[in-house]
Amino acid sequence: MNKEELQKIKKDALEKHIPIIMDDTLEVIDKILKEKKPNKILEIGAAVGYSAMCFSEYLGEGGRIDTIERDEDRIKEAKENFKKVGVENKIFLYEGDAVEILPTLNDKYDVVFIDAAKGKYPFFLEQALRMLNDEGIILADNILYKGYVMSDYNKHKQRTAVTHLRQYIKEITENPELETTILEVGDGLAISKKI
Ligand code: SAH
Ligand code: MG
Repeated sequence: MNKEELQKIKKDALEKHIPIIMDDTLEVIDKILKEKKPNKILEIGAAVGYSAMCFSEYLGEGGRIDTIERDEDRIKEAKENFKKVGVENKIFLYEGDAVEILPTLNDKYDVVFIDAAKGKYPFFLEQALRMLNDEGIILADNILYKGYVMSDYNKHKQRTAVTHLRQYIKEITENPELETTILEVGDGLAISKKI
């Protein structure tokens, strides 16, 4: 993997205000993946592929990441980036809306990383649970949404997202099959292990 190229892609994404994974969140996920050595990771929300490329380092032998993105420009860039960094054989990109694509997937995954439309988190959770291996882990980024999720004042613009993120938190904490931790790193990271 070409790490210099990866750093360039990161810098470029930050300059263009593409919401890539934050360093402290990545640090936590790195540790989890290092220990888990997953064979199959599912990512919902690829953007330009930065997080998927970072995660690809921790795949077990012959492992693979499936990721989903609906924005055409980002799809194009992600595909180019996978080649530049030399990980195009490890990462498969599904092109389109995850809401339509997820129900058509039937693979099993060791880790699912949810990082797309906040209003769809409960649906993504349902789909992730359907495809999660025993002892698998579901990670959800931006779960505290700049603190809006914990505050009782929300502008109309955020209200739907906040409602669905709260719903997500309620479901992962009440599900007896999951052991959940929520960390205040980055924009909030929920870690749910299937037990
Ligand atoms: N995981 C990336 C950042 C993803 S940003 C990283 O850390 O590098 C969130 C992305 O999800 C955006 O590019 C957006 O276009 C995409 N997205 C949002 N809702 C989606 C949906 N329903 N289906 C597919 N992609 C979606
Ligand atoms: Mg994110």
